[in-house]
Amino acid sequence: MTAISATEEVRARVETALKRCGVDPAAFAGDGVTARTPVTGAPLFDLRAHGPAEVDRAVDAAHEAFLTWRTTPAPVRGALVKRFGALLSEHRQDLAALVTAEAGKIGSEALGEVQEMIDVCDFAVGLSRQLYGRTMPSERPGHRLMETWHPLGVVGVISAFNFPVAVWAWNAAVALVCGDTVVWKPSELTPLTALACAALLDRAAAESDAPPHLNQVLLGGAETGARLVDSPLVPLVSATGSTRMGREVGPRVAARFGRSLLELGGNNAAVIAPSADLDLAVDAAVFAAAGTAGQRCTTLRRLIVHQDVVDDVTDRLSAAFRVLPVGDPFRDGTLVGPLVHGAAHAAMRAAVERAVAQGGSVLAGGERELADLAPDAHYVRPALVRMPAQTEVVREETFAPVLYVLSYRDFAEAVELHNGVPHGLSSGIFTRDHGEAERFLAADGADCGIVNVNIGTSGAEIGGAFGGEKDTGGGRESGSDAWRAYMRRATNTVNFSGRVALAQGVDFSG
Ligand code: NAD
Repeated sequence: MTAISATEEVRARVETALKRCGVDPAAFAGDGVTARTPVTGAPLFDLRAHGPAEVDRAVDAAHEAFLTWRTTPAPVRGALVKRFGALLSEHRQDLAALVTAEAGKIGSEALGEVQEMIDVCDFAVGLSRQLYGRTMPSERPGHRLMETWHPLGVVGVISAFNFPVAVWAWNAAVALVCGDTVVWKPSELTPLTALACAALLDRAAAESDAPPHLNQVLLGGAETGARLVDSPLVPLVSATGSTRMGREVGPRVAARFGRSLLELGGNNAAVIAPSADLDLAVDAAVFAAAGTAGQRCTTLRRLIVHQDVVDDVTDRLSAAFRVLPVGDPFRDGTLVGPLVHGAAHAAMRAAVERAVAQGGSVLAGGERELADLAPDAHYVRPALVRMPAQTEVVREETFAPVLYVLSYRDFAEAVELHNGVPHGLSSGIFTRDHGEAERFLAADGADCGIVNVNIGTSGAEIGGAFGGEKDTGGGRESGSDAWRAYMRRATNTVNFSGRVALAQGVDFSG
């Protein structure tokens, strides 16, 4: 029988990790936010939610800090992020324990998330010497035309429960080297990991003689986030979460001509072509669909398999799903931890019921597990559902481990099915046919922000720009040139000719 950690054991781990990171939860005690653990479903600490006046004060303090930080040389800003990355490395086990306790991720995935923070700090340190602007040839003699990138201001970061630390770090590390300051509203489901990260960044700032209030945390739910969204002193709101949240946040920021960077839901698919290496494809699909208990924005939710290999693929996947170790994410050997709460479980059950009503058949999984040992937690066996067509439920994101399998006859049909959903985050094709792979990557191929070949949909590296199209919101974060969203561009023309020369040959001399 698989044992589940006792709530007291989880609380003790959390207290130890918080203490090592410099956080005393008693200092945040109060009403409004309850830190829980999905490992047992039990509450851990009651914390005080920040009200509107505190949101305003945090934004004012961040703006004040920005006025100093924006003129601090970028490589000096990079030195702070370097120190922060070193502290993250030192505390990687503590932070991973908090991620497991609050988000339910297995040890290896929790450590992977902390590694993403460390990696993006490395990236940002390098970036601090590479915030390049272009010089363009001027059409006028004796003139120079160029662009300069300047810090933008306070960046409001709103993050989701399922990447409780990495998403903030993608934003914060890049924003800080760009000369911005940060006010962070983490998910109300993961307040403790946020407090720990913020304490480490405060320590790095103090050791680096940086101004105070470069990064602040606001605890609370949607109302706290909404106050941040509406603040005129926040020129950029970077919001990660459901498409529902993005539909509320995007127009509010636009109404005051702010910028928003939206990282919303996904309904990701992979195509398995007849030429695919099926061992590789099935292994990759199992992780992409069942890893993080199906609670990644990039989780594989639809598998589009050529009709010649679909039975073989579903047999292999069914066998794999049936033996996946589901259980306590703190235990070695577990691969699938709990769902975050009962509502996620109810959504999964409802989706599977609707899929069956729409003609689907459940080939494996879908059952609740370990309810006798942890009646308030929600452990499930990932579900594999064969569908006759891309029905309504298949076109929606259900944030739980349900993998729908569809079959196709030719490549054009595969792409049509692939693109035939509202979201556009991550995609993949498994094939040994080079031409087919290129067609999937081409302008009329997959319509997502992330398009992979012989790789599943989840598990992106920080070096690329991360984000997606359509109902995923269009934002890009992390690597490549995503930094530009955190800065303002000034176009500069310098006249050293000693006379007035108007552009486009305009003559105003009379
Ligand atoms: P959620 O939308 O319930 O909450 C996300 C965050 O938004 C929370 O901090 C929440 O308090 C805040 N929020 C909600 N309504 C708000 C409002 N009106 N104004 C301001 N803030 C508001 O999402 P969740 O359940 O925490 O996370 C799961 C969802 O996030 C999934 O849809 C998943 O695909 C998506 N997600 C996307 C990415 C990405 O990079 N594209 C990454 C992780 C998660």
